[in-house]
Amino acid sequence: MNTLRQLLAEIDNHGYKTYKKLVGDFQFLNFLLRIDHVQGDPFADLSRCRIFIKATKTNIPRSLFNTRSRTIALEDFLGRSFTQAIKQEVLAGRGDGMSGEMTITSYGQEVLERNAVLVQNGDIELRIRIGLPAEKRKVNAQQAIIMLFEELPAVVEKVLKVLQINLIKIQQHVDSVEDQQALRQQLLEHNLVAFIADGSYLPRRSGIDDRPLDGAVLFKAPASLAVELTQPHDGLIRGLGIPQGVTLIVGGGFHGKSTLLHAIERGVYDHIPNDGREKVVSIANAVKIRAEDRRAITNVDISPFIGQLPQAKSTRHFSTPDASGSTSQAANIMEALSIGTQLLLIDEDTSATNFMIRDERMQALVSKDKEPITPLVHRIRDLYQDNAVSVTLVMGGSGDFFGLADTVIMMDNYMAKDVTIQAKALAHDVIPKGVKFQKIKASNMRIPTMTCLSPKYDENRDKIQAIDTRILRYGQLEIDVSQLEQLVDKAQLTTIGNLIHYYYQQNRQNYLSDIDLVVGLKDAFIDVEQLGLDCLSSYIIGTLAMPRLHELVATVNRMRNLELTSVLK
Ligand code: ADP
Ligand code: MG
Repeated sequence: MNTLRQLLAEIDNHGYKTYKKLVGDFQFLNFLLRIDHVQGDPFADLSRCRIFIKATKTNIPRSLFNTRSRTIALEDFLGRSFTQAIKQEVLAGRGDGMSGEMTITSYGQEVLERNAVLVQNGDIELRIRIGLPAEKRKVNAQQAIIMLFEELPAVVEKVLKVLQINLIKIQQHVDSVEDQQALRQQLLEHNLVAFIADGSYLPRRSGIDDRPLDGAVLFKAPASLAVELTQPHDGLIRGLGIPQGVTLIVGGGFHGKSTLLHAIERGVYDHIPNDGREKVVSIANAVKIRAEDRRAITNVDISPFIGQLPQAKSTRHFSTPDASGSTSQAANIMEALSIGTQLLLIDEDTSATNFMIRDERMQALVSKDKEPITPLVHRIRDLYQDNAVSVTLVMGGSGDFFGLADTVIMMDNYMAKDVTIQAKALAHDVIPKGVKFQKIKASNMRIPTMTCLSPKYDENRDKIQAIDTRILRYGQLEIDVSQLEQLVDKAQLTTIGNLIHYYYQQNRQNYLSDIDLVVGLKDAFIDVEQLGLDCLSSYIIGTLAMPRLHELVATVNRMRNLELTSVLK
């Protein structure tokens, strides 16, 4: 502490760059402060720091971190506690630029594996960023002393206090995550793909606010579809079990269909207590499928859905910088199959009609050989029977799927009803005689990987940067991922960017070889799962969160690589 105080006194009023002298370790009463990297000027990225707190100070019971998932839940809780403590204790605006800012990664409704807070044997490591105070681009030691000697210890003090008096709340947080994982694990043995517990509240405040809507109608399963699962902590729980196979969600407009589907989409992640969806779980590899016109596609076999295109363009190795609604939706399905998904989630609101259905009159007018699209309605049984891929489909506008569905759920004033029998009674044959069932193979997305990645990233100059969950800047390239609805956190996208780069570094020797993209990315993904998020970068960043393999593969396949596209044509 004294060394730091002395250093600050020496550099007071000197040029901002003299702050660089602070790089190093400083022992405080309750913690060690490590300044890893000092920003170049008050407007640049904040200085990277770490706080180490010893187990003797934290006294966290072992039972809160003796499994991997408990540790992740505990780290999540602590990260949120630090966020709150920083908000309460740290006064920003201490001079030029970002002087006085203290930040930690930001937390949403999901509990994700992150590298912002790490707990090991009860020791805590926290990664924060600090805006070292400046006045007229000179060191302002007085303000720095307030930040580092008053605010920072107060933040640590607050979190230590939480650990002392709020253990019950931490235990509930950890137990809740463990319960969710247990529920998710029970899905397959009950032949289910998703589970929505009674009492869940599904709607969100708005399209840009993921917190629960106040006053929502609570979910309740109809008796015929109700199942009971067990949780290690919270015991037996009743809810709607969505069976494997084809499930339709029907109902009038504004009756809660899309809201239910959104909850299922997010059920691949664990949620914090009181989210309202913390007892909604779905198969971890479930993928939301939507039309995404204008997306780039690189070398995906979409032939099961789209046959010969005008000008005899083959669809077995389909590439385009600018997909249509139907080709994009087909590519999205093939991508999902390539990572081994067991559940596709589709909403009519975000689908291309010509991809979903084609009615008899249209079939009569436009003959089969003039229509390259085999709509989903002709393929949905193949998906399940040949590939064991279930589909949950929101469809309020057409009865064409009635005869193909195993289960039909109606949303009526936000209440779920089982209308399978009624829908079956109304079903009629919609698959024309000419359509032969064909086994759908998962796509072979083979691309000459290095040609795709290398020219786009210059290690010395370029950056990897996520802009919300919408855009990944990867060197010179901007990748639009805004339509990946299950990418929930900016920190996941940052990780995806780093994973792509990691993958490139691992494989750059194979410059010309033709590596299977999905296999290669999966290997990189497994590395990170085993080695931890920190293996992705040469310095400590603290703003990473684990994505899913699907979003990684999907991001890579959305890179616009014009050179490659022209080669493949
Ligand atoms: P649909 O897809 O059937 O047209 P949505 O799911 O989009 O309907 O829901 C319509 C509106 O109703 C949305 O604004 C949503 O927030 C709200 N809503 C959905 N479920 C509930 C619920 N259980 N309680 C209260 N409001 C809800
Ligand atoms: Mg809708």
